[in-house]
Amino acid sequence: MSTQDHALPLRESPLGISVLIVGGGIAGLMAALEMWRQGLDVKIIERAPARLTAGDGFTISHTAMRAFNKWPYLKQKNKEITWNPWLAWHNFKGERVTEPVSMNFTATKDNEKGAYEETDGLSPEMHRHSRPRFHLMLETQLEQVGIKIQYGHRAVRYFETPEKHTAGVELDDGKILEADLVVAADGIGSHSTKITIGEEVRARSTGISIYRTSYPVEIVNSDPEIVEKFGNAPNGSPLIQMWMTDGLFASFARNDFEMGWSITHKKAKSSSESWSKAVSVEDVFESIPEMNDWPGYARRVIELTPKDKLLDFEMVWRDPQPIWTSSSGLVVQIGDAAHTFLPSSGNGANQGLEDAISLAKCLRIAGKKENIPEATKVHNKLRYERVACLQKIGICNQVTQYGHKDKGVLNYTPRPKYLRMLMAPWTWKHDPENYAEAKYHEALGALKDGTPFQSTNIPHGHVCKPWTFESVIKAMEDGGDADFNGDWES
Ligand SMILES: Cc1cc2nc3c(=O)[nH]c(=O)nc-3n(C[C@H](O)[C@H](O)[C@H](O)COP(=O)(O)OP(=O)(O)OC[C@H]3O[C@@H](n4cnc5c(N)ncnc54)[C@H](O)[C@@H]3O)c2cc1C
Repeated sequence: MSTQDHALPLRESPLGISVLIVGGGIAGLMAALEMWRQGLDVKIIERAPARLTAGDGFTISHTAMRAFNKWPYLKQKNKEITWNPWLAWHNFKGERVTEPVSMNFTATKDNEKGAYEETDGLSPEMHRHSRPRFHLMLETQLEQVGIKIQYGHRAVRYFETPEKHTAGVELDDGKILEADLVVAADGIGSHSTKITIGEEVRARSTGISIYRTSYPVEIVNSDPEIVEKFGNAPNGSPLIQMWMTDGLFASFARNDFEMGWSITHKKAKSSSESWSKAVSVEDVFESIPEMNDWPGYARRVIELTPKDKLLDFEMVWRDPQPIWTSSSGLVVQIGDAAHTFLPSSGNGANQGLEDAISLAKCLRIAGKKENIPEATKVHNKLRYERVACLQKIGICNQVTQYGHKDKGVLNYTPRPKYLRMLMAPWTWKHDPENYAEAKYHEALGALKDGTPFQSTNIPHGHVCKPWTFESVIKAMEDGGDADFNGDWES
């Protein structure tokens, strides 16, 4: 079946609301699609001159993939491009210290069939995606509904004109673009914080970086030892090997398309927060001398990395910020522009997708131009606490290197605590569209009259209190935990 043969989803009646989306990343593309479906008129601009094919992989959860059931092409294509890894923990001699486990999301009914049925035909396993393939899938779908990303447009300033009920952006060439609503989906360096919280808040370094890449698997397939050592799990699924020692964490994964590897390390000279600035393999060996003791086949995977494919990605962070809209509500942030995630949360792309689905539904419920401000603020209220919870788990996962620390000592445990939290039902059973439908008016009431509002897309019984990156790290260094009150595993 060709791309053209797929039916488009049913589009809701037009609302007569124009939306300008700034940023053609994962969140921006999904917002454009969902807003089109909900009857809004969408334009999308992107600063890059053409589609960005950089990046390796990320995890997408059922909360976002469930939305693809409404999009026949996305539903089919997603099944073709996703892969379901198992995980096994290793030491740095390459010795296996836990047997491979399948990374299934946990079900409240403690049986996999139940979980499977509840995910609309998606298997309950962890789903990984190549970012370039996933991006292409969304962009292809967008073209099918007749929306083209306008490349080469860089926004430098956001503004709103409430008396005219419009908002807009200034581009770097001085041009002004306006719409009824502007969505800042321009990622971690967004200029939009100037209009949401009154100042530009640049993400700051965590002091940690990741050497990361994935490259065509054919490059390693002619090396039998690599193929053997990075073989599949017992059921034939690709296996992610997590190599851990105190202070250093690496991962290796070989699937049908790609060989991927990453090493998390202290920030080096070469580190930068960029998906396009390549570093050399020599840099890696120079900054991590321990690698000379690694087994030859692991070193070869690194040496075989094609030039220009290797990044030293600096992990940056902004503390949870509860305000994602301008004061008049005509500019709203989604995705990384609203919240940063460490890769160890497995949620950067996923929460961007959830934002997109939620915002589009809120605008649909609001129904008309005059109600845009309430829609964006309700959306913000529905999303903030959930996102902050997932951000916190990511930090703990990072500190414990996806392992488990017991009295400061690393344990090699299949499915350690923070991974279990990430795979608990409260994370993956959530449906952002249904949630917006169910909770919109309650949240609106809370915003208008201060009536109580209880988020139900967070861990059961959890009471959210403000926290910072430093406070979480400190709590863990002191041998405690980062205030996981409530039930984070069901
Ligand atoms: C090229 C690239 C590769 C990536 N690779 C990975 C990866 O391998 N693994 C991973 O976990 N995450 C990766 N990420 C990050 C990941 O995609 C995001 O964290 C997540 O998907 C949230 O998406 P987002 O749309 O909010 O942000 P992003 O995906 O960062 O998208 C933001 C978009 O806005 C555009 N933009 C930025 N500033 C402006 C401006 N002033 N005007 C107009 N447009 C602007 C950017 O070019 C980008 O396309 C990558 C991001 C990019 C841009």
